[in-house]
Parts: sequence; structure tokens; C-alpha cells
Amino acid sequence: MREDPSGHVAVVGAGVIGLAVAWRAAQRGLRVTVVAPDRTPGTASDVAAGMLTPATEAAFGEEPLMRLGALSRDRYPAFAAELEAETGLPSGLRTAGTLQVAFDADDLARLAETRDLLDRLGLATERLTGRACRELEPMLAPGVRGGFLAPDDHAVDPRLLTAALRAALRGRGVRTVREPAAAVLTADGRVRGVRTASGADVPADRVVLAAGVWTSGIGGLPGGVVPPLRPVKGQVLRLLLPDGEPPLITRTVRGLVRGTPVYLVPRDGREVVLGATQEEMGADLRPTAGGMWELLRDAHALVPGVSELEVAETRVGLRPGSPDNEPLLGPTAVPGLHLAAGHFRHGVLLTPATADALADALTGGALPDYARRFSADRGSDGSEAPQWT
Ligand SMILES: Cc1cc2nc3c(=O)[nH]c(=O)nc-3n(C[C@H](O)[C@H](O)[C@H](O)COP(=O)(O)OP(=O)(O)OC[C@H]3O[C@@H](n4cnc5c(N)ncnc54)[C@H](O)[C@@H]3O)c2cc1C
Repeated sequence: MREDPSGHVAVVGAGVIGLAVAWRAAQRGLRVTVVAPDRTPGTASDVAAGMLTPATEAAFGEEPLMRLGALSRDRYPAFAAELEAETGLPSGLRTAGTLQVAFDADDLARLAETRDLLDRLGLATERLTGRACRELEPMLAPGVRGGFLAPDDHAVDPRLLTAALRAALRGRGVRTVREPAAAVLTADGRVRGVRTASGADVPADRVVLAAGVWTSGIGGLPGGVVPPLRPVKGQVLRLLLPDGEPPLITRTVRGLVRGTPVYLVPRDGREVVLGATQEEMGADLRPTAGGMWELLRDAHALVPGVSELEVAETRVGLRPGSPDNEPLLGPTAVPGLHLAAGHFRHGVLLTPATADALADALTGGALPDYARRFSADRGSDGSEAPQWT
């Protein structure tokens, strides 16, 4: 069903996903209001490392997600350039590729399996000996066994990206209601807007729920329309090089250290982000000594120089995990209600593909082909109650 192009859309949530959906919707001529509090502790976009790494994060059984990730990654340069041209602000996109390394022989064997998978998927990588890895990144530990370069796996700075998106929304006159949404308003089975926590109503004929892990807590909807999203805790450390020092690493380094993944992401300026734990702990926002110790232990095994850096910040974010760990995109069983949620470990990577897909769904009524598998109503059989419970 084609949607009214002059209609009013309320986007609930202002992480990377909500902001990018709002931007693309405004570009298509829709009247957009963003409903979100200024700050929610645990917001994933404030904490994310910003890796755009479908190849180096490839996992068996996740091939469709990797294909979506590769499509989204390939849209990033144009997405970032367009945003920068519109706002004059950077997104921190770095296109130096990603080096994946192995600490010991078992880790190297696991990387060989990953490379086989990447070959089958047609994702480019270049196999490297330990010495070749150190030629690319001289600060790597002498014991690093080998690895591969993923030349197309890049990184962005999510805080710069969200700041630029906010500026783009201001420039396009998008209204922001700085409150949590409490409920979606419906009448005659259709969406009519959003009620905020203070009881104010924001009328809209389409609503996009993009509130990360908080999406499934928004009321007013029949059971099962929004699947339960679970918080997956991630701890990161932000480290700083001393002023005037050359960079420790020049591209993202991901490593397997005795079977445990760890990454170091350099940013423009002095910062290196070190991450991340992955903990099924509910909505626990405490940084822990154990989490920091594991990150530092494994990062130090790969790049011993990290121990010289200043600790600027420890952060915890909540990845929004859907029941099948795949994102939930587009129209739902409730007319006018769309989801852009459940992006779990890949929300920054999937931002351009998600925003374009939602803009298509909001204006044309349907998701583009590449996003259909991730349709928000895939838990529904189309006639009975959705199976999400
Ligand atoms: C440690 C860590 C590292 C990560 N690294 C990467 C990475 O390298 N690459 C990658 O692609 N992804 C990464 N991710 C995943 C990525 O951060 C998430 O998938 C992505 O940020 C999800 O974005 P979002 O906008 O859906 O949710 P969030 O960023 O969580 O934003 C949720 C928004 O909803 C708002 N909100 C909350 N409650 C309400 C309410 N009731 N009403 C309205 N608004 C509300 C919040 O204020 C916030 O604006 C990482 C995540 C973590 C935790």
C-alpha cells in the first residue's frame, strides 16, 4: 500500500538508527518529529566502537546478515559524504581497512575457517604472515602468528555521526520532543501518534519505533507486534595517546587471543577504543574490574603499547538483541507502525541500509528487496497473532 507522501512521521528514539531514519524520511519530504529523551544511560550508539566490519565479524550461520552488512558498508562513503556536505560536520569515517590477527596456532586455525567462509561469500581478504601483519602495524606483538587484511572493512566515529545527524535534522526543520515515549496511540486499528511520558500527544499517521533495547517497553500495542528485545551488555575502554605521539595503530586491529575476540579502533586524534565484552546480564550498566581486565589482558597480548596509554573513559552500552539476532525493519501488523530495531552488534554498520529501507517503506509502503528477509512482521504468519511473545 502506498503511503501519503505528505504525511507526518514520529520517530521514537535518537540513536544512530532513529536519527538516520528521521534524516532520510525528511529528505523524502515527510514531516518528521523525533521523540526521545536527551540521554538514556546504556544507549548503544554512545558507546559503540563504530566498526563497519562485515568481513572480519563474519560468523557461520549469519550469512544473510553479513550480506546486508556488506551492502550497508558499501553505502557508507556516499552516506557520510552526503551528511558532511549537508552539515559541514565530519562522521569520522576512516577507510584504512581492518587487520584481523591471531595470537596462537589455534586462533590462526579459526581465522583460516573464517577466510574460507569469506571466500565463499565473495568478501575480499588478503592472507598475511605474522611478519606481514607487523609490517602493516609495527606495534603488534612479536608473537602474533598471522592473520588477514580486510581492505573494505572500515570504521566511523558514532559520536561524530550522531552529532552530524542531529545537525542535519535541525537544518531540515525536524522537530524534537525531548521526552521518552510511553505509548503508541492507535484508533480504529491504525497508528495515530505517540504519547510521551508526561502525557503529551504527538499526532502522526506513521510511527517508527527505533528506541534500541527500550523499543519493546513502549506500550499501547497488541501483544506480539513488537518482539521482546534483550539487552546484551558491552564494556569498552577509551584510551588516549600522549600529546604529540605518533598513532599506536593506523587501522582497526581485531584479534583472537586464545579464542577470545578483542579489538582496537583508532580514531582521528589521540583516541583508541578498546572493546568489547559481550554479556547476557540484563540491563546491567556497571563497568566491572573483570571486564576491563579481560579487555586489557587481550589487547596487551596483541599490542603491548596499550599499557602506556591514559584511560579516558570506561563505558557500558546495551546492544538491542532480537529473538533471532537479526534486525527488525519496516511495517508491522498494525497499519502505520514500523520498526527499526534489534540491530544487536551491527547497528552502526547497518545504519545506511536501515535508513534507506525505512524511507522506502514509509513512502512506498514496502521494504526494498535487500531488506525483506529482515521484515519486522516475520514473526507473524499474516493472519493469526504474531508468534513473537
Ligand atoms: C560496546 C558496544 C560496541 C559496539 N560496537 C559496534 C560496532 O563497532 N559496529 C556496529 O555496527 N555496532 C556496534 N555496536 C552495536 C550498536 O551500537 C547498536 O546496534 C546500535 O547503536 C543500535 O542503535 P539504536 O539507535 O537502535 O539504539 P541506541 O543507540 O541504544 O539508541 C536508543 C535510543 O532510544 C532512546 N530511548 C530510550 N527509551 C526511549 C523511549 N521510551 N522513548 C523514546 N526514546 C527512547 C534513547 O535515548 C536513544 O536515543 C556496539 C554496541 C556496544 C554496546
